[in-house]
Amino acid sequence: MSLLKCDFCGTEDNKENPIISGDKACICQSCINTAHEIMNNPEEETSSIVEKNKEKANLLTPKELKAILDDYIIGQNKAKKVLSVAVYNHYKRIFRKHEIKDGVELQKSNVLLIGPTGSGKTLLAQTISKHLDVPLAIADATSLTEAGYVGDDVENIITRLVQAADGDVKKAERGIIFIDEIDKIARMSENRSITRDVSGEGVQQAMLKIIEGAVVNVPPKGGRKHPGQEATQVDTTNILFICGGAFDGLEEIVNKKNGANTLGFNQDKKTIKIDDNYLNHVEADDLVKYGLIPELIGRLHMLATLNEITEEDMVHILTEPKNSLIKQYIELFSMDDVNLEFEKDALLEIAKRAIERKTGARGLRSILEEIMLDIMFDLPDYKGKTITITKDVVLEDKLPKIA
Ligand code: ADP
Repeated sequence: MSLLKCDFCGTEDNKENPIISGDKACICQSCINTAHEIMNNPEEETSSIVEKNKEKANLLTPKELKAILDDYIIGQNKAKKVLSVAVYNHYKRIFRKHEIKDGVELQKSNVLLIGPTGSGKTLLAQTISKHLDVPLAIADATSLTEAGYVGDDVENIITRLVQAADGDVKKAERGIIFIDEIDKIARMSENRSITRDVSGEGVQQAMLKIIEGAVVNVPPKGGRKHPGQEATQVDTTNILFICGGAFDGLEEIVNKKNGANTLGFNQDKKTIKIDDNYLNHVEADDLVKYGLIPELIGRLHMLATLNEITEEDMVHILTEPKNSLIKQYIELFSMDDVNLEFEKDALLEIAKRAIERKTGARGLRSILEEIMLDIMFDLPDYKGKTITITKDVVLEDKLPKIA
């Protein structure tokens, strides 16, 4: 006996998702539910029942999301957890809107990642977007200006997101925007002497507008607006914003608040605790003191901090992620039938050099490229051999062991 099949999604009859059959067609329970949602949300232009079912299936749990992040990002556990929860809530809010009880309004939770350069902030956003199949646009806050000034205006980020979604506006409206270096547009505060762009606050206001949710006119093919070209409208309400920054100098503000750095004024001889992990104590107030406007901070509910990459982390980053640099080199070599190995000491030296460069794990690639250049040049001559990179190759530019 042949099983009944849903005429919408093709699923066969089963206990979890039974099928109702009519004279001419069959439909499964899941498609009935989705059809019900569509009928109850006429304002939402849903492409089809099947599309919508697919979206729901994409709703990975926080644990599943974190497991994906673990495959690609070393350490930064807290940030991974915060991001997994934020992303889960965000898409739950969008895709399961119909389940929300009357009168309850679920607000969007955008994310602020604070951590030194090269600690994985961008990588977190990239990894999430790739695995959720949602478009991602990355922008640098320092290149943004208030609308009307020369430079990138805030609306251009939305244009880039639409481009990342291959022109699919609906897809872009559920995408992710990562704005890096948000700390660099902090307004000058009396506590800090760093000279910065006075228009910082204006840019923050412009960003606030799109983060809060606005309908933005985007030129149909991206790029600059031209008179006569009909603009496409993009609603930013359901776009997830992830902002990142190193926030140099924030440590001082946080420690001051916690009673450190008050040497000389301390009458009661209390031991002053200099908190080295100040990031665990960052609060909204500190960010206001730093120069972010309170309204913007109020829209970045989820705060996650990333640690500086240690030497040990560097070695893990070189070897462990699914597409780690060392794995990539091994693959490149094996395509020439050459076996590539790295001695532990060599990896440690590479890690040390990356730490010296002070660019976090970002420096690893260029260091490896410098080391491997000559070897790669001669690679086809080493067919069938094993090349071992030793500490001396890294430190003294010596030839690797070839056997
Ligand atoms: P930033 O924090 O400045 O945004 P990125 O995420 O751009 O840093 O990191 C630069 C590169 O360094 C990444 O593409 C990745 O190769 C590597 N990297 C940085 N942090 C990590 C990490 N925690 N785990 C694995 N790779 C990392």
